[in-house]
Amino acid sequence: MSQTFDVAVIGAGAAGMMCASVAGQRGKRVVLIDHAEKLAEKIRISGGGRCNFTNTDAAPQNYLSQNPHFCRSALSRYTPQDFISLMKRHQIPFHEKHKGQLFCDRSAEDIITMLKAECDQGGVQWMMPASVKSVLKVGELFKIITNQGEVMASQLVIASGGLSIPKIGATDFAYRIAKQFDIPLIEPRPGLVPLTFDLQGWQPYVPMAGISLEVDIETGEKKSRGHFREDLLFTHRGLSGPAVLQISSYWHAGGGIRLNLLPSLDVGQTLVDEKTRIRKSLGNWLSQFLPTRLAEGLLLANGFKLDARVHDLPDKQLRHLGESLNRWTIQPDGSEGYRKAEVTLGGVDTRALAQQSMMVNQVPGLYFIGEAVDVTGWLGGYNFQWAWASGVAAGLSV
Ligand SMILES: Cc1cc2nc3c(=O)[nH]c(=O)nc-3n(C[C@H](O)[C@H](O)[C@H](O)COP(=O)(O)OP(=O)(O)OC[C@H]3O[C@@H](n4cnc5c(N)ncnc54)[C@H](O)[C@@H]3O)c2cc1C
Repeated sequence: MSQTFDVAVIGAGAAGMMCASVAGQRGKRVVLIDHAEKLAEKIRISGGGRCNFTNTDAAPQNYLSQNPHFCRSALSRYTPQDFISLMKRHQIPFHEKHKGQLFCDRSAEDIITMLKAECDQGGVQWMMPASVKSVLKVGELFKIITNQGEVMASQLVIASGGLSIPKIGATDFAYRIAKQFDIPLIEPRPGLVPLTFDLQGWQPYVPMAGISLEVDIETGEKKSRGHFREDLLFTHRGLSGPAVLQISSYWHAGGGIRLNLLPSLDVGQTLVDEKTRIRKSLGNWLSQFLPTRLAEGLLLANGFKLDARVHDLPDKQLRHLGESLNRWTIQPDGSEGYRKAEVTLGGVDTRALAQQSMMVNQVPGLYFIGEAVDVTGWLGGYNFQWAWASGVAAGLSV
């Protein structure tokens, strides 16, 4: 015996719960299907357990997509302020941590409880844990066959996310459904992911492990250029921190990343212009601008003696030092992959979707939302804002 619903949502994560609650509260009969044992594990582990649930500055330019204007419609119709109002209605305390990033004061669990309550208010039925065996189009309806029985629905929303963190239940389900219905995909790849470095070449930088500083970081050229001013962390195995996570989404295998370790100072030019007046050693001079351990480590790594007198050094060498600090190019040899990636870039090609509703143009009644779609935000709450906004767009349309 199959049950019939107006809407079936597959994936009870951020986007799926948002969509189901909105549709349910509009009076639609909604079923939410998920294969996980535990609800919304990704929300639970996000933001170090406190969920960076939005960014007050979220705008289309904070997202990567082959179709950069696509996200504009959903983001403008459900804004960070709308989600903040929802949080306030549920009396969930939160705070701003850094650059518009909002986090729960207590725990990400507050958001899961809130979304579940919103679904319950909309009378959403749960099928969980239930694994989906197949999806068929039968006339105007979708037939979803699960290990818990069959479901018929006039509208089907795919909210099963991307490939990041398979350990907590990520699958390629959305891509398989897209292929089944001949919907084009943008090749998925890990984003917001630690990059890896050739360990042998890294030896001179090991003594700097643990040091963090704000840098300019960039990669790519022209339209594919990514550029951030963020914190960089030196580790025993390479570079890490928000700067590297941000740039990883723009980095392509084989490419280099460029770093300016002292964005507020043109090191080479300053040294050349002022060398006759500088009485200090190179090590002491650079330690005015960088943590001493970093200044000394960088000089040694670049073949300079710490006690060399600035005024004794030829301009060419001073300019070379400037290049190494202001335009340091380094080539990662890979990334830590989906095991560590916070998001999946690529996914369902948005050119196949209607931007107001997230519905597939060629398959009426079929929708894709959230991370399954080729819209990927920067680090800092942007990805959840996309999940909420795309979920609401579909929830209002189904
Ligand atoms: C460690 C980590 C920390 C993060 N921190 C932040 C943060 O602080 N701020 C931020 O904005 N973003 C953060 N993100 C990204 C954010 O979690 C995702 O962008 C967001 O959860 C995507 O929402 P979604 O609903 O599309 O997918 P998900 O939240 O991943 O939900 C997908 C759901 O589909 C289910 N599913 C998958 N396959 C199937 C299947 N075959 N059958 C049935 N169900 C299935 C899954 O069990 C899951 O419940 C973080 C990600 C990670 C990994």
